[in-house]
Amino acid sequence: MATTDNHDVLALLREGRPRTKTELAQLTGQARSTIGIRLDALLERGLVTILDEAVSTGGRPSLSYAFNAKAGVVLAADLGATHAYLGVTDLAGEILAHRREELAIGDGPVAVLDRVADAWDDQLVGLGLTAADVRGAGLGLPGPVEHSTGRPVSPPIMPGWDDFDVPAYVAGRFDVPVLVDNDVNILALGEWTERYPDETDLLVVKVATGIGAGLVCAGRLSRGAQGAAGDIGHIQVAAESSRVCRCGQSGCLEAYASGRGIAQSLADLGSAAATSDDVVELVRSGDPEATRLSREAGRLIGEVLSACVAILNPGRIVVGGEMARSGETLLAGIREAIYQRAQPLATRQLSVVTMQDPERGGVRGAARMALDAILAA
Ligand SMILES: [Zn+2]
Repeated sequence: MATTDNHDVLALLREGRPRTKTELAQLTGQARSTIGIRLDALLERGLVTILDEAVSTGGRPSLSYAFNAKAGVVLAADLGATHAYLGVTDLAGEILAHRREELAIGDGPVAVLDRVADAWDDQLVGLGLTAADVRGAGLGLPGPVEHSTGRPVSPPIMPGWDDFDVPAYVAGRFDVPVLVDNDVNILALGEWTERYPDETDLLVVKVATGIGAGLVCAGRLSRGAQGAAGDIGHIQVAAESSRVCRCGQSGCLEAYASGRGIAQSLADLGSAAATSDDVVELVRSGDPEATRLSREAGRLIGEVLSACVAILNPGRIVVGGEMARSGETLLAGIREAIYQRAQPLATRQLSVVTMQDPERGGVRGAARMALDAILAA
């Protein structure tokens, strides 16, 4: 399991199998008395339950303990530039409620977070729950975030959000621990823990209005020294370029290969495309220019990823974001460039796939981030 701490009772029980006190002592290497103290504390918090049926271990029957995923819920939000996915999960990360809201991140933190909190309230009511059932909240934002404080750091498409205390504001509505990270890191966390827990080195790329990557290196999510690791959208891919990126530089990867970049290329050719969604619709309907430009965008992304492959040697690359909904075209371009550019040893076992459930991936990851924090030893 991706984030299992083998020395912690709760981490072992979160894997799903009920255990006896003897088993827990053997697995953690701790004394039965120590395990007993920990279990009592967890029973008191409702996080562990005793199963009815006692297991016979040869001598007297012993009780079996299980993680109680129903002891509360966490709130999760995956915020994008123009819309958000909001959800409520149980303590095992199972999604109980999920919805999409049209919501412009540029409206600023107070307006956006009020909308998010209202939607969460609504979802709780729908589940027959109240704020008292909430144990924690996790949010992914479409820009750089200092994970330790939950504050955005000069996010280019988020006016008014710079250094805003997101956890404190959300905790004003729900008095629980609030965890914040950038949207790509939560996507990577969700894919890794839910889909590919055995993968120690994984790259998750989000291709939407912007482009970014979340990195799992040697079995942990890698944020870098300042939380800026994986910010590949502003790597220069066109030396001679008049197209200015939203970061102010020219020739950036995302100026050409993001949904917005492809839409601009289409607009330059006289099409009415303006957003990632427009591009996805055109590609799906078989528009030849949109298809050609998506494949070309895939190649540009693949060129940058081939450099990442040389540095990180991932076992798997997962491509998500709005543009992943356009089908195989983008992925074909990405694969083409990676297998052409990267060294054979690094690509021998590498698989490049699209995300299976891009609409829910961010919510899963945001919930997981909150769960790992509130259920830590
Ligand atoms: Zn840029």
